Amino acid sequence: MIINAYNAIQYRKTYEYKLLEHGYSENDTGFLKKHFDEHRLDYLLEKNADERIVLLLKDDYFIFDNLDRYLALWDDEKRELREIVAMVNANTDRDFYSDVESAFVDIDNRYLILVNKFYQLPEDFKPDEKEAISSMYAYANRVIDASIYDEFKSMWHAADQEDLTLIVQSAFRSFEAQKNIHNSFLASHGREATERFSARAGHSEHQLGFALDITTPGYGLTQAFEETDEFKWLKENAHKFGFILRYPKDAEHITGYLYEPWHYRYVGEEVAAYIYQNSITFDEYYAYYLK
Ligand SMILES: [Zn+2]
Repeated sequence: MIINAYNAIQYRKTYEYKLLEHGYSENDTGFLKKHFDEHRLDYLLEKNADERIVLLLKDDYFIFDNLDRYLALWDDEKRELREIVAMVNANTDRDFYSDVESAFVDIDNRYLILVNKFYQLPEDFKPDEKEAISSMYAYANRVIDASIYDEFKSMWHAADQEDLTLIVQSAFRSFEAQKNIHNSFLASHGREATERFSARAGHSEHQLGFALDITTPGYGLTQAFEETDEFKWLKENAHKFGFILRYPKDAEHITGYLYEPWHYRYVGEEVAAYIYQNSITFDEYYAYYLK
């Protein structure tokens, strides 16, 4: 009897008992105990049991520190769980350009620097070494980070083999150039429209030298480019050369930008393949794997 009473007291101290008592099912309790340490379990016990918490915890890209933000956004927006996680991880539960941080440029692999509406490049940031793109591949006076020029050329020639004609319309842009472009769009299109397709100075990937706007003659940077064989080829093959379609369709709530079938960002072959295969954005990849 004494031993049983002692055991009962000990059992009440376990997380299994506490979680069950708190309202979690046996299955969920097992799952929570398996995946989270005491510190995190204590945190969960401070909150009301909520079946959404367990669903969130099971998402591939769940980040524990974001838990309260996921729940808050879920209350606000009628969206799929996958999207709730993606949005919070990409910070888009916040207003664009709020809480702007300096882009983390001292990263070992410069191809993975994140620049978006929450991460800004310093005004003087520019590629280590720039190289002019041959007029064979681009309109006049386009410049690229020299370290990715070979990869780009390989991609161009692979497309050429299929009788497709790629042409670079825009490549590296300095802080100053971006500022001028953005200001001229503000003047012609107004702020609300402009912010959906044009980055503020310091917030453009083009300043990295790793972003290329690629089209085919006759299309320019228009949504119609999506209908071309060149686009279809890029969509399925760019990752083999380290490039990703950076602003996919219907992802404005994550990337902050309207669909841009022409904008490709170099991230290296391994990361590009992962992003392609898992259909996630670079913003999400960064939050989950790099931040
Ligand atoms: Zn672009």
